[in-house]
Formats: sequence, structure tokens, C-alpha cells
Amino acid sequence: MTQYISIIGYPLKHSLSPGFQQAALDYYQLDIRYEMWETEAEVLPSEINRLRQPQNLGANVTVPYKETVLHLVDEVDSLASLIGAVNTIVNRDGKLMGFNTDAPGFLRALRENAKFAPENKRAVILGAGGAARAVGFALLQGKVNSLAIANRTLVRAEALVDSLTKYAIDRKMRTEVIALPWQGSKFREAIEHCQLIVNCTPLGMKYSSQEEQSPLSTASIPKGALVYDLVYNPLETPLLKMAREVGVSVLSGLPMLVYQGADSFKIWTHREAPLDIMFRAAREALLKNRR
Ligand code: NAP
Repeated sequence: MTQYISIIGYPLKHSLSPGFQQAALDYYQLDIRYEMWETEAEVLPSEINRLRQPQNLGANVTVPYKETVLHLVDEVDSLASLIGAVNTIVNRDGKLMGFNTDAPGFLRALRENAKFAPENKRAVILGAGGAARAVGFALLQGKVNSLAIANRTLVRAEALVDSLTKYAIDRKMRTEVIALPWQGSKFREAIEHCQLIVNCTPLGMKYSSQEEQSPLSTASIPKGALVYDLVYNPLETPLLKMAREVGVSVLSGLPMLVYQGADSFKIWTHREAPLDIMFRAAREALLKNRR
């Protein structure tokens, strides 16, 4: 029987996961198809329920549902529960288990691809959605010195700061964690003095209404910082283009995408992910995905 893994989100046109996940499944000659299930919010519960059917092995979950699906699965592993977001679901005999592979994927790309050690650094996260939650916990575990979360909806940043602060206090960490309003004077000040900026908003994402937008202006990008954009399509977003033009180090979301996908692959198939094949297929999918 052919089995299926899906990616659930809305919109999905920009997604590269089908290309590189299918390449990894084909490498092992598995009779598994990776499908796109573009899902509108009102049918999300029924689509998640559909994953319980025996032919469905599981799913990736992407924008904007990573936090919502946490409440639609039967069990959540400890990291996903801590983060409050699920990006990987596995169907175990009709029971849905939720995992989060974004946090380890984010840190791995930061350390291995950008050669950036987060220890004792000052970081600013732009956004407070599902991805920002994973990045916030990953940076706390990476022992940053301070963490500022700026979000358009301030209460959402404050809620994330509350969770991060509780985590830090429980572990006797002295990391300063603050919430900032989007784009005000405090926002500009935090950006000016930080060493790592992580864009966790979809600004700049291909096929979105915000495709041409950047969360920062060229003038506000501080010299000496690393600018890490979680958006992976296009490879060079408007933010990364500006940062590169002012001579600042940049990291695209593509390595994180492949690393988080590799961890998901292992959860579904119990096999080591063929990373080289996945990276090659992700780059090919990116080229094909160009208009
Ligand atoms: P999400 O849960 O929907 O959160 C989106 C965040 O972006 C929210 O904080 C939202 O603010 C903010 N935002 C949306 N539109 C905005 C705008 N016009 N101006 C300012 N802020 C805006 O999405 P997510 O799952 O966190 O994903 C965010 C991005 O990260 C997506 O582009 C996704 O593809 C990317 N991502 C990449 C990887 C990777 O492996 N590279 C992994 C995960 C996610 P409000 O709270 O005010 O709505």
C-alpha cells in the first residue's frame, strides 16, 4: 500500500518541502508520496483528523498553523510542548503525536552554516508566531545574553516573553528577555546594539502579498551583526539583499528548512536523512519555483 506524508499550511505555493522530502523518500525507494495539502482555517481540524487514516504516515505543519495544531493532536513531545508549536505530526496507529524540529534545525544552521556561536550574544527576534517561539527557546538554550522579541501584535510578543522568562528562571539563567513594540524607538535601539537579528515574519516571502517587503530599512541594519532570515523562498529576500549590500553577514532560511525536514524525515521513517540529496533537491525546487 502506498503511504502518504503531507504538508499542511496556507498558502503553500512557496513550499520546497515536497521537492526535497520526495527526493529523500525516493533515495530509500520507499513507497511513500509527499503531498501538499493546502488547507484553509475552517477545514484544519478535519484535515488533521484525516491523518489518522492508516495510509497517512504524518505531516509537516507550516504557516500559520503551528500553534493551532498543538491542540488538535493527541500527544505532544516535551520540546514541542515547551515551545508551544508543532511542525511535525506522526500517525501512530491512529494516534497523532506532535513534534517540533524547527528549534534544533535553526540552531544547527546558525552554528554550522553561519559559524555563529550564540553564547553571550545580544539577539533580536522579529515576529512572535510559531517559528519565533521555536527560535526563542533555541536561543535561550544556546545561552544568548539578551533576547528582545518585537512583534506587530505586542501582546503576542509579551506572551512569548512570559514563557521564555519562566523557562530561564526555572533554570537559573540570567538572560534578559523583553518584548518590544514593532518599529518604535525602543525597537530601533535594540536593533542598533544587537549581534544577531532573526526575521521570523513572512515579510519577503515569495507569492505572498508582502513579497517585496523587508522588516528593516538599509540604514537600520547594524554593522557587525548577523542577519538570519527564516524565509527561504526566495534565497535572497529583500532583507538579506539590503544586509549584503551594506556588508553584513547573512544566513538564509534554506539550511534550517533542510535540517528541520531531515529531523522530521527521521521521525516518520526511522532512517537517517540523506542530507546531501535533500540540499540538492531543495536548491533545484527553488530554481523550479521561480516565476
Ligand atoms: P506565523 O505563526 O503565522 O507567525 C507570523 C509572524 O509574522 C507573526 O508574529 C506576525 O505578527 C508576523 N507578521 C505577519 N505579517 C506581518 C506584517 N505584514 N508585518 C509585521 N509582522 C507580520 O508564521 P510562522 O510559522 O511563525 O512562520 C513565519 C515565517 O518563518 C514564514 O515565512 C515561514 O515560512 C518561515 N519559517 C521558515 C522555517 C525554515 O525552516 N526556514 C521554519 C519555520 C518558519 P502578528 O502576531 O502581529 O500577526
